Amino acid sequence: MNTSLLISCEFFPPKTDEGARKLRDTWQTLKDIDPEYFSVTYGAGGSTQERSFATVSEIQRDSGIPAAPHLSCIGSTREHIRAILDSYKAQGIRHIVALRGDLPSGMRDPGELRHANELVEFIRAETGDWFHIEVAAYPEFHPQAASAQADLDAFQRKVEAGADSAITQYFYNVDSYLRFMNDCLDRGIHIPIVPGIMPITNFTQLARFSDACGAEIPRWLRKRLETFGDDLDGLRSFGLDVVGELCQQLIEAGAPGLHFYSMNQVEPTLHLWCGLNLRADMEL
Ligand code: FAD
Repeated sequence: MNTSLLISCEFFPPKTDEGARKLRDTWQTLKDIDPEYFSVTYGAGGSTQERSFATVSEIQRDSGIPAAPHLSCIGSTREHIRAILDSYKAQGIRHIVALRGDLPSGMRDPGELRHANELVEFIRAETGDWFHIEVAAYPEFHPQAASAQADLDAFQRKVEAGADSAITQYFYNVDSYLRFMNDCLDRGIHIPIVPGIMPITNFTQLARFSDACGAEIPRWLRKRLETFGDDLDGLRSFGLDVVGELCQQLIEAGAPGLHFYSMNQVEPTLHLWCGLNLRADMEL
């Protein structure tokens, strides 16, 4: 088994004090798997940004694992983004996930930077090589992309603007990732493209997310998940089996690492990670 895999975990900013306590417990456990970084999502506009900043600061200060804040540019100004970058630099943060983001409903002004490649360019112009920049990749293509080729062009622009590596949208079809990797190689793109792994623990939520972000739940999987109905334990156990196999297949196929969309929960990520037998001293 390859032990130099790039493992990372993603959290979202908690909405309540109780959620913050739960997230603290989560990262305190997940730090034992020694990830490269803990990333924290960020919403365009509104109050969730303050919670993102607080979560990033706490993780960077207290967890012993580098924090990697997500930063989206839609609806924002260069001045606002510059202030955020300055604050992250002052905290010693060296890793950032640069995104376009999505305009919240009701917000009209797309802001000064319209696509993620422009944000990557801006971060490089402002901060040189200070940040390791991750960008998003879409093996099943972004829902707004004009075509598969146009989406690959957009990904290439982000790499040419200075992205160091990428994290993919989640997927349950290994072929989509392998084809995407091949297309990237054909275009001379050699940065690590780490698969994003979404554990399956709640079918309704997963179906809703997947419809919104364009990730496909294959028919066979959807049909099987539907049969569990209210049997949440059965669904979780089956879902972890399926996603565990996906992780294994990806690593065997040469994926450079795995990025776990933890949904702020310990068990699914820990279970999947332990199933990969990366470290003999960790047990469930
Ligand atoms: P882009 O790379 O800019 O692409 C967006 C769309 O525009 C694509 O369809 C692309 O083909 C098209 N496009 C790009 N450039 C051009 C151009 N010049 N002309 C025409 N079309 C173009 N969202 C959040 O709000 N907060 C988060 O924290 C967050 N974290 C994420 C983490 C990961 C790993 C991933 C995969 C997604 C995340 N998202 C997050 C969701 C993301 O913001 C959305 O998918 C968003 O719609 C696109 O962001 P992007 O950075 O991929 O945009």
